[in-house]
Amino acid sequence: MIALARSERLKQTMQRFGSTTRLARRFVGGDGAEGAVRTARRLRDEFGITASLFYLGEYIGDPVAVEQNVEMTIAAAERLGAEGLDTHVSIDPTAIGYMAGEELGSRNAERIAQAVARQAPNGRNYLMLDMEDLALVEPTVRLHRQLLAAGLPAAVTLQARLRRTEHDLRSLVSRATSVRLVKGAFPRGPSDDHQGSRAITQNYLALARRMLSAEAREAGFYPVFATHDDALARELVDLAQANGWRPDQYEFELLYGVRPGWQQQLRAQGQAVRVYLPFGTDWWPYAIRRVGENPRNLLLLGRALMPRARS
Ligand code: FAD
Repeated sequence: MIALARSERLKQTMQRFGSTTRLARRFVGGDGAEGAVRTARRLRDEFGITASLFYLGEYIGDPVAVEQNVEMTIAAAERLGAEGLDTHVSIDPTAIGYMAGEELGSRNAERIAQAVARQAPNGRNYLMLDMEDLALVEPTVRLHRQLLAAGLPAAVTLQARLRRTEHDLRSLVSRATSVRLVKGAFPRGPSDDHQGSRAITQNYLALARRMLSAEAREAGFYPVFATHDDALARELVDLAQANGWRPDQYEFELLYGVRPGWQQQLRAQGQAVRVYLPFGTDWWPYAIRRVGENPRNLLLLGRALMPRARS
């Protein structure tokens, strides 16, 4: 699957001829900001599910492509605001300049956060920083602190598999900010990582307990739980209830196209649900990684690549 995701030739072919395939449509919300905002509106109107828009592209060194990523993300933020939806966008630091250096990356992050801050407060307006590999963790945590110090609406993703996350989270739960907790997609060795899915899930729960503490609630901290693990989600709901958190004081965030039935079920049970909604034309590496996360998706891959006319 990694080879499929990294094959430049396959990517070019799929992206040129395959943008109408079921695979692209399943995991990607639109080619441009307008289509993605339309998808976000439909999810909100039909299911009461909110969205975080993410312009596809990662590990980008080319300054022209970096500028395009920044402009597309700002355009998405402005469009969300104009449509009366909450202005929530996600970025990968390596997509907005961190490959060229921290100064360019942080300047661009500030531009995006300012665009988010300019929109009407229609809901939860945030620039959410995605968390990439270990080399980016310290710069991303630093960027989050810098944006908060500038009074900007920034949130950060932390990875439960990383041992250092306990330390990173400690100072954040006493602030009016938001953390998106994920299991973590960048495995390292035992010195950096909790090893094995059971240990990672246990650490996720330990971190969630801190995010759902009385101290966090009093500080106006907003917990975001990004997981498709339904057993874990049930424990999180129980924990939130036991600690006196209302469902509108925290949220679940799930990937667009992954277990959509369960997403709607969770929302119907009264939980706040957001989807991470990627858009853009550079969709192949992202979509094929989603396929690789579940063996059952492999059976669907062939069918998913067929154009709609065959269904
Ligand atoms: P798992 O134990 O992997 O999965 C739980 C259940 O969900 C299993 O039944 C599994 O089969 C099913 N499932 C999982 N993925 C799929 C799929 N694609 N299709 C169908 N079923 C599936 N990681 C980072 O390192 N940095 C980030 O910034 C980051 N941002 C994220 C943002 C969001 C909104 C989400 C949901 C995830 C993000 N991740 C990020 C990925 C995360 O770290 C995990 O790798 C990923 O979510 C899988 O872990 P899980 O908690 O869903 O549990």
